[in-house]
Amino acid sequence: MRAAWAKRRATAGVDAEWLAHPVCCCGCSARLDVAKNPENQRFFKPGHDSALKSLLRKIIRGEAKREDIPQAARANVARIKFIQADPGFQEAFAKPGQPQRRQPAKGETA
Ligand SMILES: [Zn+2]
Repeated sequence: MRAAWAKRRATAGVDAEWLAHPVCCCGCSARLDVAKNPENQRFFKPGHDSALKSLLRKIIRGEAKREDIPQAARANVARIKFIQADPGFQEAFAKPGQPQRRQPAKGETA
């Protein structure tokens, strides 16, 4: 019993919460159907994966911040296949805050 709880705790948090109430990982927060088998759980509304892809590409190019990645996508980064298949996308998630060369945009208070 105790061991089972410890095991469950390791994967608890956003993860478990998300699996109980899955939302689209592109950040639109649309509710997804809960799959009977968690292995078949969908992560996006049809076609919405491209929205996350383009966000990740922006991050890779330095046009967006890692902080812009939706919480749902971060929680599921290890399970989203196209991210696991692309080291560049994984890097976007791993990218540190990039303190170097961050110039305040025009009109932004530094
Ligand atoms: Zn979406």
